[in-house]
Amino acid sequence: MTAVAEKTNLLGMPKAKMEAFFESLGEKRFRATQVLQWIHQRGADDFDQMTNMSKVLREKLKEVAEIRGPEVVYDESSKDGTRKWAMRMDNGNSVETVLIPDGERGTLCVSSQIGCSLDCTFCSTGKRGFNRNLTAAEIIGQVWVARKAFMPFEPGPDRPITNVVMMGMGEPLLNFDNVVDAMNLMMEDLAYGISKRRVTVSTSGVVPAIDRLGEVTDVSLAISLHAPNDELRNQLVPLNKKYPISELLAATRRYLARLPDKRKATIEYTVIEGVNDQPEHARELAVVLRGLPCKINLIPFNPFPESDFRRPSMNATRRFQAVLNEAGYIATVRTTRGDDIDAACGQLVGMVEDRTRRSQRYIQVHQVSP
Ligand code: SAH
Ligand code: SF4
Repeated sequence: MTAVAEKTNLLGMPKAKMEAFFESLGEKRFRATQVLQWIHQRGADDFDQMTNMSKVLREKLKEVAEIRGPEVVYDESSKDGTRKWAMRMDNGNSVETVLIPDGERGTLCVSSQIGCSLDCTFCSTGKRGFNRNLTAAEIIGQVWVARKAFMPFEPGPDRPITNVVMMGMGEPLLNFDNVVDAMNLMMEDLAYGISKRRVTVSTSGVVPAIDRLGEVTDVSLAISLHAPNDELRNQLVPLNKKYPISELLAATRRYLARLPDKRKATIEYTVIEGVNDQPEHARELAVVLRGLPCKINLIPFNPFPESDFRRPSMNATRRFQAVLNEAGYIATVRTTRGDDIDAACGQLVGMVEDRTRRSQRYIQVHQVSP
């Protein structure tokens, strides 16, 4: 039996790679322009739809290439307009993607990995362990699927996806190259044409990768801080033991300084009852962040079954916010959206077969504890 060569999936190829691909076939580079538009702006997944290319070229492409997106296994809309998809990836695991409409804005929350290896104590993704990185095709595939759900439409201000946040499952900076390729497609005018200010990477603080990111792109940056001092942050975000707060904030400053425009970082702070929600934490945070161009996004902790943490009262969260506001910061409280379909951003789980077996250990530990 002769082995069938695997076809090249064109879905995850940014422009430069697509041009190189056509050159390698002995074709003109401008074919990349046509194919990018067919795939990302018209949702094509079949070369025969590409009527501005000759039949001969289409046949040639069919032999060596494909356009293969994730398989949608769940698609549900919430009463408030939030829409959630679960998409099955190649090895049977699934990830979730959420679209949160808010007036003129539509924010798509995209996953970068199946599971996550960083094991933050308050995060349901982390508790399920890590399986693998998503490919660039699987990352942009989430945007492609979401956009196809609103076909046909013209590009313009009323388009359904105006913003993308890499805040679904996974740590985007631990899947660096694929995330960068996918973000380039998000910003590519021939694809989704989303402004660099409206594409946001959220990281729990992989310091060297923040510096690398500044060398290759200028998307917006969100830092998952969650604590004003290392002692507390070590407990919530284990990665902090490797890259403590001072180093993380220094890297954030360097990143902002490289941007060609004036932009603020977003500081994410998941507020957990009795853990990091006291006014003194807010005061300490105000001191730690002094001088950093930033806005603070307070996220009331979202409870999940394997966690003993609790969501703080709205009063406690508002008090925390008021301290920051009085210290001169812009601090907002993220309202929970899509509650009825369990679709809070940063809460996306999906089905993960844990290759680290961490989730199994976690469940065992919890079964024996009182
Ligand atoms: N790994 C990246 C991006 C995914 S998490 C990161 O950590 O930044 C996206 C956001 O959701 C993070 O700020 C994360 O801390 C937050 N989050 C995770 N679990 C949460 C929970 N149970 N309640 C509220 N926010 C949570
Ligand atoms: Fe991973 Fe982010 Fe969850 Fe931490 S909060 S475990 S980095 S997905």
